[in-house]
Amino acid sequence: MTMAKPIHDLSRLCVHTITTKPWTLQQSVDAYARAGIGGVTVWREHIEAAGLGESARILDDSGLAVVSLCRGGFFPASTETERQAHIDDNRVAIDEAHALGAPLVVLVPGAVPGMPLAEARSQIAAGIEAVVDHAGNAGVKLGIEPLHPMCADKRSAVVTLTQANDMAEAIASPWVGVTVDVYHVWWDDRLEAEIRRAAPHLFSFHICDWRTPTRDILTDREIMGRGCIPVRQIRGWVEEAGFDGFNEVEIFSAEYWSGDQQAFLDAIIHGYMNHA
Ligand code: ZN
Repeated sequence: MTMAKPIHDLSRLCVHTITTKPWTLQQSVDAYARAGIGGVTVWREHIEAAGLGESARILDDSGLAVVSLCRGGFFPASTETERQAHIDDNRVAIDEAHALGAPLVVLVPGAVPGMPLAEARSQIAAGIEAVVDHAGNAGVKLGIEPLHPMCADKRSAVVTLTQANDMAEAIASPWVGVTVDVYHVWWDDRLEAEIRRAAPHLFSFHICDWRTPTRDILTDREIMGRGCIPVRQIRGWVEEAGFDGFNEVEIFSAEYWSGDQQAFLDAIIHGYMNHA
């Protein structure tokens, strides 16, 4: 078994603005750039707060690479009107990514409580098909992110990398691929094989850790090295598959959000250098 080489610098580190949620977009990118971090993934709530034009200016001035926009998706719905509204919103997300110079929109697939998961997956595939030309015209890729099975009720009917790969391969567009987030897929005994299979369309890689015991499936993520996910081993698989993009830290944490964000960012960098 090969293990990824330790990380020596922050050039391939990207931080999601949701990680430092209490900060404005400006505060986030200033702190990331000051720390020597290479990239940023922007969340739509931060874009909304600052406005699209101002966000583009802030990102442009920051010197950071804009890695992706989070997030599109949430395709399934019980009515045709709602489904169409979700498709329209994904077109807006693609336009925003284009305006910000982000090459990728990450898709959280979506699910509807009570809807059979297979039906939800076919609505997700149909939704992606409906926006793929728009994405191609904008030069923006779409990354299908499988979520942990605990999210199958209302956030994602796509819960394994196998399902995400199946969907990307069926859609068969150079603009559609997958996003691997260790939080969601670390438990899967097929993970290494599916990462290898994803090689031609592995668009992005998210890292954090699984706090144990977890207190909340959504907002209790940990800093790398403080939980039970073998982050460095998974990074090794991703790199063996040829991925040479950013390692994106995405940590939803009610606990860290309530504390000092600079201390949190410093701890993230420490965890990144020593455990990712
Ligand atoms: Zn993620």
